[in-house]
Amino acid sequence: MGQNITVTAMVLKVMPIGDYDKRITLLTKERGKMTAFARGARRPNSPLLAAASPFSFGEFELYEGRSSCTVAKASVSNYFRELTADYEATYYGFYFLEFADYQCQEDNDEREMLRLIYQSLRALESPSYDNRLVRAVFELKAMAVNGMGPGVFSCMKCGAKENLSYFSVRRAGALCAACGQKGEKTRQGEAAVFGQDIFLVEESALYAMQYILSARVEKLYTFAVSEPVLIKLAEIMKRYLAAYLGHSFKALKILEEM
Ligand SMILES: [Zn+2]
Repeated sequence: MGQNITVTAMVLKVMPIGDYDKRITLLTKERGKMTAFARGARRPNSPLLAAASPFSFGEFELYEGRSSCTVAKASVSNYFRELTADYEATYYGFYFLEFADYQCQEDNDEREMLRLIYQSLRALESPSYDNRLVRAVFELKAMAVNGMGPGVFSCMKCGAKENLSYFSVRRAGALCAACGQKGEKTRQGEAAVFGQDIFLVEESALYAMQYILSARVEKLYTFAVSEPVLIKLAEIMKRYLAAYLGHSFKALKILEEM
């Protein structure tokens, strides 16, 4: 016998099934990532037509059968319509969804990730916020939420808390001036993954990273940075993700081709 459960969730991914159905991937507050069938959701008069679309956030009533879940009802509180009206912002949004789909797991506590996506999509909707900054903030926080964030509050080599002025991809965090200038001997084979491993980081870029890692998700998108700091943050995250995530995202490819 199956039972009905209600979850608060965001639709991460949608797959067409057969002629009229969809299979959706949800990021839920209660059970982590889940997949469910939305029967008839591609019929023009279906009550699930809009709900079973990427970015839809709200309450989903699911019928839990023996081997799969089916959406019985959905009550969407935010479709992120302003986001989907902007082509570029939409692809940043798709990137965040893809990222969450890649990182999140079933039956896992993914509440922090759900909150992060929600706030990040809202930041993409805000015209005063640079999408490239939203991306860097999201990437850094998402890595931290998953326990893979860099250490930026002390030197990753000697533990010093002062004069932090370098970032090392291999050490996964900040280095003090003395350790950074000394450099590191690279063993053979590591160069490809950790290419150009150590580089200078201005105090303001490091401070931005410290803020992102320590701020509550709801307070994340309350600061601005200069163009050079933004470029540095984006560069650090690009190398960091290449080394520690090593996954190529479809939406990112489209964004880069834009
Ligand atoms: Zn040091």
